[in-house]
Amino acid sequence: MIRTDTPQTIRLTDYRAPGYLINHVSLNVRLNREATRITARLDLLPNPASPDAGGPLVLDGQGLRLEAINIDGVPLTEDQYSLDNEHLTIHKLPQRAVCIETETTVDPSANKALSGLYLSNGVYCTQCEAEGFRRIAFFLDRPDVLSRYRVRLEARKSEAPQLLSNGNLVMAGDIVGSDRHFAIWEDPHLKPSYLFAMVAGDLACVEDSFTTRSGRKVLLQIYVEHGKEERCGWAMTSLKAAMKWDEERFGREYDLDRFMIVAVSDFNMGAMENKGLNIFNDKYVLASPDSATDQDYAHIESVIAHEYFHNWTGNRITCRDWFQLCLKEGLTVYRDQEFSSDIRSRPVKRISDVKLLRAQQFAEDAGPLAHPVRPSSYMEINNFYTATVYEKGAEVVRMLATLLGEEGFRKAMDIYFARHDGDAATVEDFVKCMEDASGRDLSQFFHWYEQAGTPQVMAQSRWLQSEGVFELTLTQSLAPTPGQPTKPDLDIPLAMGLVGPVGEDMPLDLEGTGVLNNPVIELREAVQVFRFRNVRQRPVPSLNRGFSAPVRLVSNFSAADEVALMGRDSDPFNRWEMAQNRASEIITRAIAAPDHAVSADLARGYGEALKRVLADNGLEDAFKALMAMLPGEQDLARELGSNVDPAAIHAARDALRRALGTQLEAELQRIWEALPTGGAYSPDPASAGRRSLGHAALDLLIAGDAASGAQLALGHFHAATNMTDKMGALNVLARIDCPQREEALSAFYDSHRSDPLLVDKWMTLNAVAPFEGAIARVRELMQHELFDITRPNRVRALIGSFAAMNPVQFNAPSGEGYELVAGVIEKLDGFNPQVAARLATNYRSWRALEPGRRAKAHDTLTRLRDRANVSRDTFEIISKSLEG
Ligand code: ZN
Repeated sequence: MIRTDTPQTIRLTDYRAPGYLINHVSLNVRLNREATRITARLDLLPNPASPDAGGPLVLDGQGLRLEAINIDGVPLTEDQYSLDNEHLTIHKLPQRAVCIETETTVDPSANKALSGLYLSNGVYCTQCEAEGFRRIAFFLDRPDVLSRYRVRLEARKSEAPQLLSNGNLVMAGDIVGSDRHFAIWEDPHLKPSYLFAMVAGDLACVEDSFTTRSGRKVLLQIYVEHGKEERCGWAMTSLKAAMKWDEERFGREYDLDRFMIVAVSDFNMGAMENKGLNIFNDKYVLASPDSATDQDYAHIESVIAHEYFHNWTGNRITCRDWFQLCLKEGLTVYRDQEFSSDIRSRPVKRISDVKLLRAQQFAEDAGPLAHPVRPSSYMEINNFYTATVYEKGAEVVRMLATLLGEEGFRKAMDIYFARHDGDAATVEDFVKCMEDASGRDLSQFFHWYEQAGTPQVMAQSRWLQSEGVFELTLTQSLAPTPGQPTKPDLDIPLAMGLVGPVGEDMPLDLEGTGVLNNPVIELREAVQVFRFRNVRQRPVPSLNRGFSAPVRLVSNFSAADEVALMGRDSDPFNRWEMAQNRASEIITRAIAAPDHAVSADLARGYGEALKRVLADNGLEDAFKALMAMLPGEQDLARELGSNVDPAAIHAARDALRRALGTQLEAELQRIWEALPTGGAYSPDPASAGRRSLGHAALDLLIAGDAASGAQLALGHFHAATNMTDKMGALNVLARIDCPQREEALSAFYDSHRSDPLLVDKWMTLNAVAPFEGAIARVRELMQHELFDITRPNRVRALIGSFAAMNPVQFNAPSGEGYELVAGVIEKLDGFNPQVAARLATNYRSWRALEPGRRAKAHDTLTRLRDRANVSRDTFEIISKSLEG
């Protein structure tokens, strides 16, 4: 059956202020697993600023059973209101402040969508962003309705000794004559419904405190399952570091007496910034040396910080509507990136962030799901928590910071906080603060928010020796994306340098401007020529340093110049970038070559340059590790852009890995042997860097000589005394077909089968094998007693990883990989559309494939789209994937 009721498209241009406002919300929640009863009293009044005041009141509500409704204590008769699947409409309201009271019941035990009130491992918890509050009570469930909340929670004492909600605890006690107890919470801050939260369950609590710079003592609590208390230390350390950093860097203090984090195991996303009561996917809270890797530690630190930073960018200043999502997300990602850069290595952080941006956002921007940082329409808002809104959104803020300079940006942020505290704001409001602080006109810059696609900047240069002029011609272009055939030119800030013979930066004496203090040029026209004077020696241009603009840079610069920069640019980002460029070119040639053989000459030249980098004592280990990693298969696919054969890419990339592994064997071996084993584990950046370099060396060694490499890896696995070393070994073993792989994987399973986060790691290791048999293995694991399709972490670990991290097998020419994932999407879509739709985005690059695979993917997608009862979420992703 073909879906007939095509979901509606919601448009930014249709925004209307709410006809009514809700000043105060009083909830009384009587928790029971199958029937939770919720009384909601809303103090509501017509919005004087809205033309819709006086009209019917349309409250959102989904999956709620309405038991009773009254206004100012008078029950409504049936003709005074109507109910459909998504709304409760009250036809006529008195034009004054009224109190509407509804009583509803919901069934948390049946809620597998994990939106609204649900049970995770027996713990009651809520998820309200974006539109989950309407699954708890009838409400104006939109971010521009700000209310004060008072919440009474009640539950069986044995089932839920802890009763939590936002704000301050004002009263708690037993209900006499029953086995139940209650707690009353009040949040003094106005907030939109998406920031509401409650949690009830039997949880352990780890406490600490933080004294703000104005001397207020804040109680910090992390709630986890019993027995996991020891794994909360790192999250707590990270939280305190984040609180301090926000005071120092942005002048922002915490504003309640208590800050709570709850870790739950079933969660659709990473974490949620509910006011004073953050709820986390437990994988971003729990860490111990024997259960978490260095990478896990770094992720926990940044997610804890991200959610905390939302208290100002998101909660105190929220979004007027969901089109403004980047206002809180892009800005908060920028803030968490800066936090990590300040407390770790800035260049290493920048390179990692750009890798992620390219892998996820560039891929999204290059395909049918491309959309602007601020979209202008959507069917389902949950589909817009994307790399574009988050990661590119952060890049846009970073460009503003580059244009305004550090001081100017801080001044603009101060204006933003002062002017909009308590508001539901727009992107225009934010950019206006940037304009007011700097005196700049940012109207051209604003296109970054409205245009989809990755801009291309073409650079051509020549040195006019006799004039002492270096001439740089830059051309910008932006390919059409769905709904945007032509686009105006952008304002592109490009940090740059002219590098002299020994790596020194020459002064930038720009014709028409003078010597640049801040080495950033702005490309604002389609074609622009920049002439630098007094350039007496031939320079090597280093452009887009630090990746100051999220563009694709192409140039006529020579391989020799790239190798030179790889060895001596003062900008570490560009040293890495040049290495990636060189590697991409070598691999791209191998893709086209017979048997995907790599050119021995090119590989040797690259290997020599890499060897010098690895031998440079002035460089950090973590940076060297990044230098030693070749561009990913999906990066290479994106660069090719069409007629993609993922197996050929894999083979060509492997050929270069193998060549490097052989050529650099001695160096790699030295690095490998310098990796300490045993001893106490510390997650600090220097130790983590040493481990990542060791594991990068192992990856190349195993490419050079699979048999001896596999032995090394297996030995490392068995000797490991922390999870980082174990995973370092497994990550390389998992990708080669050898007996050591089987041995290590089953040993890992035997030791860690009772730890869900480690079972997830094990599932992923199984799913990423790029060789024959992987699909059968994944199918087998779907029948494993530990696979549970209702648990998002498990689904992502097995199926999500297969689709996203195993391009060879997901894109198997038979189409079996596509079918496997489609089968899971179909099942999942029936109860958790959010996670199903996210899984469906893995097909987004299907049009770039070679014809055979493209046809298979097309068949699978068409069948998925035309299913009866396909959710709005999945329909939007699949139909756009097919159209674009
Ligand atoms: Zn966020």
